[in-house]
Amino acid sequence: MDKKRRKLIFSAIYWAIGLALIFGLPQLWLRMQTKEVSYSRFKHMLREGRVLEVRMDQEKIKGILYIGPIERLQTLRSKIQALRQKKAEAGGLSEEKQPSLEELLSRFRRLTQQKSDLTIFQSIRVEDPKLVDDLDASGVDYSGVQKSMLGQVLWGTILPIVFWIGLWFLLLRGMGRPGAGLLSIGKSKAKINVEKDTGVRFEDVAGCEESKEELKEVVEFLKNPKKYEDLGAKIPKGVLLLGPPGTGKTLLSRALAGEAKVPFYSISGSEFIEMFVGVGAARVRDLFNQAKQNTPCIIFVDEIDAIGKFRGGGMVGGGNEEREQTLNQLLVEMDGFEPNLGVILLAATNRPEVLDPALLRPGRFDRQIILDAPDVRGREAILKVHSRDKPLAPDIDLKSIALRTQGFSGADLANIMNEAALLAARHGSKEITQAYLEDAVEKVFAGPERKSRRLGKDERRRVAYHEAGHALVAFHCPNAPPVAKISIIPRGKAALGYTLQLPEEERFLMTKSELVDKICVSLGGRAAEKIIFGEVSSGAQNDLEVATEIAKSMVCRFGMSEEIGPMVLSRETNPFLKVPGAPQSTEPMSPELASQVDKEVRQLLNEQSARAQNIIEEHRDSLEKIADRLLVEEIMSEEEFRRLAGEKEGEKQDAIKE
Ligand code: ADP
Ligand code: MG
Ligand code: ZN
Repeated sequence: MDKKRRKLIFSAIYWAIGLALIFGLPQLWLRMQTKEVSYSRFKHMLREGRVLEVRMDQEKIKGILYIGPIERLQTLRSKIQALRQKKAEAGGLSEEKQPSLEELLSRFRRLTQQKSDLTIFQSIRVEDPKLVDDLDASGVDYSGVQKSMLGQVLWGTILPIVFWIGLWFLLLRGMGRPGAGLLSIGKSKAKINVEKDTGVRFEDVAGCEESKEELKEVVEFLKNPKKYEDLGAKIPKGVLLLGPPGTGKTLLSRALAGEAKVPFYSISGSEFIEMFVGVGAARVRDLFNQAKQNTPCIIFVDEIDAIGKFRGGGMVGGGNEEREQTLNQLLVEMDGFEPNLGVILLAATNRPEVLDPALLRPGRFDRQIILDAPDVRGREAILKVHSRDKPLAPDIDLKSIALRTQGFSGADLANIMNEAALLAARHGSKEITQAYLEDAVEKVFAGPERKSRRLGKDERRRVAYHEAGHALVAFHCPNAPPVAKISIIPRGKAALGYTLQLPEEERFLMTKSELVDKICVSLGGRAAEKIIFGEVSSGAQNDLEVATEIAKSMVCRFGMSEEIGPMVLSRETNPFLKVPGAPQSTEPMSPELASQVDKEVRQLLNEQSARAQNIIEEHRDSLEKIADRLLVEEIMSEEEFRRLAGEKEGEKQDAIKE
């Protein structure tokens, strides 16, 4: 499908250009060369002696015309006369084949000082019995031309067309063939990246010690295959790295090659998608052939899910066919090489659930290494790696940064370090201070500040109350993490303000009451808007999404609803995409159960919405203080917030009890 369309488009353009060239160009050329003159003007010129040569057929008179100053005409005519004489003598009786007008023109031009004095002219022939007499009288060479339709058509049109068709076929064949680009006819030259030394070592990858341990064995094998051969040990052919985006899969692969000091052949699965049919398979073949000549080495297929998708999975069309061919070739090659050849195939993916099971069969990618988002110590180590070449101020506390970046990937952390350096540079600082680092966290977390996005007065007020609402509800929910910062500076794409809550320690589980509180906090902004302004705004859309997502998960996945009970009704299909709205597969359920689920979810949300409104109403004066302060300062720190929020619910009750 894709291939056909490509060819069709190519052919259309090809022929548009071709026809323009074949028919347009000769016309244009003639136009430029010849001067169109009327018959009467021709006769006039003839009488003046300006016509030097004439060829005619039934319809047209063509010839060479002198258009320069009349004084020089006589000399030119005598020179031409002399030239003709000479030719006639040299040729004798064996008449020279009649030269073309263009040929004659250039001969004559050699006899003049001024090239532009001479031109080819053309005139429509008129019924004129006296023409021949006049021609004789003016002493001009003239001859009739048999108008040869055949010759003209053959040379002017048919041959170019035949040539053009031939070229077309060649190019089309080239397009269908492996490795050929639009115009490259010939052997495929697949683009494969080879690095002699990747320059990356294990020490550059932090926070995944277990994975590194597993790969060390592979390094050992590549360095010293003999040891394993002697023991008859078989090293795995393929290692698959699994993990969410940005956890260092690509980095770790390159580090593996760097540690083993072997060449690194890499190719990315997504590159295969854009290719003509057959190219992907040819590339895979080339890749393995090249690698096998350079053992020991590592072949790395990044983003293998792009080609390794489950075969026959739904879609139809050319792209699919191409992918399957590539995948088949990959499987063939993997089965084809000896285990101890010294080629290790490495692949990475963040979508293991779509991989074709054939890839995971023994003898293929039988070893799998999972790279997960780093834990707090891992994050600190990664931050350390990325601050190695940066001047850090003495007040830097990487541990605290690691604490407040739960869920961040290695790539995010690398990004934070870099942003901090950029911030420091922008402020003319020689060192990266903790403040820059914290700003960088925020920037990576919520997107860059957008000071240029000017909110109107009313909107700013609304945003201030909204954020104050979140913060205040968080403050009064016993199981919500404490508020660390509130800001009403617009950031990133959507956020007009945000409230940052930081847990005291890293959390891997959440209890039911924590989840409930989280829903309540999410709805806090909306509740504040409703109470202060009487109605809600579209700004709470994202909050609603978060709240709904949590409520649904509680009911359908965590078995936290008393009504439904401990039953799983949906599961995540991708273990690594832990974002709201990630693909979920819903278990088949009866309509009654479905409506019960809806009821449960709605009830949870309604309850928490009411709870948030109660909290806001009860602490309305604190809310106004916080919002007023925010409108002035735009940013509020934890201490300031605590001061304005007053006493905690729990504390107050305790006080009453006492
Ligand atoms: P993936 O391939 O898993 O999506 P990458 O390997 O491309 O992730 O990581 C992107 C960048 O993030 C790396 O170049 C590196 O700078 C940084 N990074 C990711 N994980 C780590 C880690 N564990 N240690 C150090 N840096 C990391
Ligand atoms: Mg990658
Ligand atoms: Zn909000």
